[in-house]
Amino acid sequence: KKIADRYLKREVLGEGTYGVVYKAIDIKTGNTVAIKKIRIGKQKEGVNFTALREIKLLKELKDPNIIELIDAFPHKGNLHLVFEFMETDLEAVIRDRNIFLSPADIKSYFQMTLKGLAYCHKKWVLHRDMKPNNLLIGPDGQLKLADFGLARIFGSPDRKFTHQVFARWYRAPELLFGTKQYGAAVDVWAAACIFAELLTRRPFLPGASDIDQLGKIFQAFGTPSPSQWPDLEYLPDYVEYQPAPAQPWRTLFPTASDDAIDLLSKMFTYDPKARISAQQALEHRYFSSAPLPTEPAKLPRPV
Ligand code: ADP
Repeated sequence: KKIADRYLKREVLGEGTYGVVYKAIDIKTGNTVAIKKIRIGKQKEGVNFTALREIKLLKELKDPNIIELIDAFPHKGNLHLVFEFMETDLEAVIRDRNIFLSPADIKSYFQMTLKGLAYCHKKWVLHRDMKPNNLLIGPDGQLKLADFGLARIFGSPDRKFTHQVFARWYRAPELLFGTKQYGAAVDVWAAACIFAELLTRRPFLPGASDIDQLGKIFQAFGTPSPSQWPDLEYLPDYVEYQPAPAQPWRTLFPTASDDAIDLLSKMFTYDPKARISAQQALEHRYFSSAPLPTEPAKLPRPV
């Protein structure tokens, strides 16, 4: 079926946070694309206008480590977003037991993640929903961040769709405490969870509920003290917790290098104001010390 006079719809790729995703052929270029059909539902027209204006801004985001938004158009009451098609994602790489990830491979995947993140933060766009299956991998081994800025435009999806629970594992503590003035630091926390998952090959903080999520965070890093996070007690959902000690970093990440652990500790900082930025993380010596990151084309991928 042809839509918008330009795309030949093929099979369904999956059901995502905001709606169904199709594979399609872009007749104009001959390229394979992924089309995200977004249920707009019964919203007032003004909301759609805002969404379309925001989407125009997303089309301006162009970076080797960001999925390109090729086109956006309304069709039969649904908004269609056209993205470049990607073969696989980081979640598939992490879960594939046949794939061995060397320290250089992990460094490469994580560096590309931070590069995409730093670019968007520089343009004042937050992701807000970073997780391994949002980090898509192209045939050339390039990792690209998907779904940038969508959470802001279409609202936080996690309350509406149950399959979204995974995003909780990557949620920063300030979000779990109900902050409304969150910033780029929430994406840095999520990126740190992804780094940890690359190192250990399993979800690092798999909370079963929002309360349990905080429990998992405290179990690992200890309950935050007022000196570590002065603003904590002023957050909307703050409640006092039983003090718990932090695990030693070496216990949490037995296979990580000293540089990796130093970077992790700066990203897993409780106070979002004190947390390292994506750009600062890229400048950390972890990335300039041996082993250097693997070239993207040489990275292991699922067959
Ligand atoms: P979620 O909201 O759960 O992250 P998405 O809406 O991003 O899911 O995607 C739903 C499905 O479509 C997934 O299986 C994903 O692999 C696939 N998909 C999304 N974007 C692309 C793309 N650019 N290229 C190929 N497949 C994609």
